[in-house]
Amino acid sequence: ATPIAIMVGTSRAAQCNVLIRNSDALQTASTLTHVVVDKTGTLTQGKPAVTAIMPVAGMRQDEVLLWAASLESGSEHPLAEAVLSAQLERGEPLRTLDNFTAIPGRGVQAEHAGVRYLLGNHLFLDEQGLALPAGLRTEAEHQAARGGTPVWLARGTEVMGLLILKDPVRPDSAAAVAALQRQGITVVMCSGDNRATAEAVAREVGITEVHSEILPEQKLEVIQALQQQGCKVGMVGDGVNDAPALAQADTGFALGSGTDVAIENADITLTGDSLLLVADAIAISTATIRNIR
Ligand code: ADP
Ligand code: MG
Repeated sequence: ATPIAIMVGTSRAAQCNVLIRNSDALQTASTLTHVVVDKTGTLTQGKPAVTAIMPVAGMRQDEVLLWAASLESGSEHPLAEAVLSAQLERGEPLRTLDNFTAIPGRGVQAEHAGVRYLLGNHLFLDEQGLALPAGLRTEAEHQAARGGTPVWLARGTEVMGLLILKDPVRPDSAAAVAALQRQGITVVMCSGDNRATAEAVAREVGITEVHSEILPEQKLEVIQALQQQGCKVGMVGDGVNDAPALAQADTGFALGSGTDVAIENADITLTGDSLLLVADAIAISTATIRNIR
């Protein structure tokens, strides 16, 4: 009866928007002890918007937005899209920059008339030896504690201002975390974002174990470390960046809206966008395996 039970379980899962690759994937999903989730695009909508623009004294908001958008025109990051669409609403053409470089987990830089402009997080500015003005730094910390992502703009060695971006938490993320926890699963969050921002989102959805300010390859290390302790680890992600971590996990879950590369590396694909489907997938797998035994 075993193969039949698995077929029934797999097709029941498919009716619930959960596509299980094969019987091994179903079996493994029933043994998970931990689920690692990416913040951006998984717990949040992945559609950030600019919520505040704070120039340093003597600088105007529109100048800060214009230079920030001109820098982001060379980037495909979700934060870049948000900055560009805020500028688009103003209808003013972008400045021409050259020598664009994107620094993963940090931000972007480019040049205009021989002067370097950069845009990114505090780690990026620190590494470049730029001092953050005290007033704006307090503002950045205040916004980050509320789940906002601070993005700094600098010209040469001077900070021009600060933008705050906010990516709304999906309405069902907290319920999904609670459902997983009721199944005895420890939920762990991984994010390349600012520590305070990541912790604010984690608190909002009920996650206590948080890894923030990490690079994509470090997400894989978080999973390996858990596996070395004997844990069975699921990973939920949507981005190209998440593919190695999805492959390393015992069960990789790709969200339906995710990139093709995420889906190719997944054991279970969720054809909807809700993290609740991960809890459903695990519940169906567990029920199926229990019936077999
Ligand atoms: P995640 O997808 O987990 O949030 P990323 O590695 O894509 O992480 O980005 C991490 C951080 O690096 C962002 O939160 C942001 O602070 C900074 N960053 C990366 N790319 C950009 C960009 N194009 N513009 C502004 N900030 C960026
Ligand atoms: Mg990402």
